Amino acid sequence: MKQSPFAPHLTRRQVMRTMGACGIGIGFSSLLQNAASLPASEAKAASSVVKDRQPLLSSAFFPLPLGSIHPRGWLLEQLRIQANGLSGHLGEIWPDVGSNSGWLGGTGESWERGPYYLDGLLPLAYLLDDQRLKALAQKFMDWTIEHSWPNGMIGPAKNDDWWPRIVMLKALTQYQELTGDPRVIPLMDKYFRYQLAELPKRPLRDWGKFRWQDEVLSVVWLYNRTGSSYLLDLARMLHKQGYDWIGEFADFQYRQKITAEYIKLEEGQGLADLALATHGVNNGQAIKTGPVWSQISAAAPDRNAVFQMIEQLNRYHGLPNGMFSCDEHLAGRDPSQGSELCTVVEYMFSLERSVAITGSVALADRLEMLAYNALPGTLSDDMWAHQYNQEPTQVECSLHHKPWVTDGPESNLFGLAPNFGCCTANYHQGWPKFTNSLWMYCGAQDHDREDGLAAVAYGPSEVRTQIRGVPVRVIEETDYPFRGKVRLTVTPDSPFAFPLQLRIPEWAKGAKVQVNDENPTNPDHGTFARIDRTWRSGDRVEIDFPMQLRTSRWFNDSISIERGPLVFSYPIGEDWVKLRDNGLGSADWQIFPTTQWNYALKVNTSAPEEGIVVTETEVGHAPFSRADAPVRLQVKGRQIPSWRAEDGAANPLPQSPVSSQEREDTLTLIPYAAAKLRVTAFAQLKSE
Ligand SMILES: [Zn+2]
Repeated sequence: MKQSPFAPHLTRRQVMRTMGACGIGIGFSSLLQNAASLPASEAKAASSVVKDRQPLLSSAFFPLPLGSIHPRGWLLEQLRIQANGLSGHLGEIWPDVGSNSGWLGGTGESWERGPYYLDGLLPLAYLLDDQRLKALAQKFMDWTIEHSWPNGMIGPAKNDDWWPRIVMLKALTQYQELTGDPRVIPLMDKYFRYQLAELPKRPLRDWGKFRWQDEVLSVVWLYNRTGSSYLLDLARMLHKQGYDWIGEFADFQYRQKITAEYIKLEEGQGLADLALATHGVNNGQAIKTGPVWSQISAAAPDRNAVFQMIEQLNRYHGLPNGMFSCDEHLAGRDPSQGSELCTVVEYMFSLERSVAITGSVALADRLEMLAYNALPGTLSDDMWAHQYNQEPTQVECSLHHKPWVTDGPESNLFGLAPNFGCCTANYHQGWPKFTNSLWMYCGAQDHDREDGLAAVAYGPSEVRTQIRGVPVRVIEETDYPFRGKVRLTVTPDSPFAFPLQLRIPEWAKGAKVQVNDENPTNPDHGTFARIDRTWRSGDRVEIDFPMQLRTSRWFNDSISIERGPLVFSYPIGEDWVKLRDNGLGSADWQIFPTTQWNYALKVNTSAPEEGIVVTETEVGHAPFSRADAPVRLQVKGRQIPSWRAEDGAANPLPQSPVSSQEREDTLTLIPYAAAKLRVTAFAQLKSE
């Protein structure tokens, strides 16, 4: 077993005291600023990377131990907004994760909601070094650890479903990395031994059967720490009993909008294989299946299955915000269809794990697209309200009937638990896990000569880790994704040679990288640019991503406009009407349009910068809010009178190109996330 940062035989009380002494009590950020004065043993323990153990097929990148990455700038503000919003207060107004939760020993909700909440609350609390939230999370972890069943099972006695345990295992692995609590690894070991013996008698079913790959992540996590070979047997059994996602996508059949009749919902078949295979959240979680399973199978085709999955989902159900439609089953390409918030955060998590295993730039590009568009686009600016379903073209959020495949009428309201409470419990993982994935560790499985750091996604942050035993700190200053400039300041404890890998997104043609005052280089887009050198304290790397405008093609040959990782939308005038109060800062809201929205755009798709004016303003504390949108595009358009809404949803877009005799207007587009009512896919005007 890897040595934990804390002595292995301490009681819980001693552990908590030790955590305070190690800096968690005094503020981890202040610890970092004073890291040079830390005892070497503590600095090392806080940043020991765990690589993949043989015979696992090695990942391209290894996750940095949690606690290594710290948000700065607007990203830190975003996490603070989240903590001050629903994430920091949910249990006070929503009993399902309140003091009567089954995961606290109460008689309340005892299934997935407690674990879902912990999966996001834990990393959020530690990224912010928020004592109150850490203490809150600790209660759930303590109950879970101290109340395992005599046979090794964990969780409330009300049910023995494998699925909610799969989620709690994700929380437990994070908790162990964050605290070094010595109770976690024995607990997981006992649980997995029990499960291996039990699964032949009581196999995976419904949700667990379709989400088995998420448990394999935790099994691999423990194998890398203990080396117990039975864990590989368990991974193989989960694969054998789990749904064959790789096989499904090798010959993808679900190419149409899935109807309730097709999946026989009325006949009570909602948990049958057909319904679960076409279920949005299941597909979002499934995206990691190929890379995760490839570590066990050691088969390259398994690893590459992720690209086929995304390609098929994009082709038949793709939307311009980077998502696929799922409201809540796969719903085709019309941008008036919705995507569930659980799917957004699960797709992000799948991409984070898949980027680590594959080292793919394309997967990281998509991760940023979701993080910087679909995630904030479905949360209110103060993060006290969220939607169940968001639509790229969302002209009204109301109780009117919507074109959802299977979801109810409240699905696109902003509120506490619109339609169903899964997203209410689950969305907290989005921003924190993204933050913890900005940087990864690179190197070979069996030696440390190639060890270095990789900038996987960009955002204002600081990473502090150890490379071959040498403490290294990198500060990333940037207003990305709103600007294209990124400045890294690299500070090893002493001059030290290691590779720094920088992701150059596929869209970043003509990117420039400059170290100190040396000649700049122009790395290829769609690759990781590798800088091998002896780094000295204060070395600077300036990255300049050209933020050219781009267009993409969607439903009925409509167009969307992108710049860097951001998608742009026409912001419809919004009238927020309160439907009900839920206590504290929480309310449920309908939003009604106050302006016209049925515009077609005049855009030259081969040179979109001709005729579009870009205006940049300061990046403030809430850059995804409408009032503070730091980038705006002015573009010409005309209304299409025949394109209307019905029951609160825009009718299908007219086939592009289109003609219009209406007056030419100048429209201002803002980032997708800033416009809660919006048009994102536009009909294209015929060139004159
Ligand atoms: Zn959900």
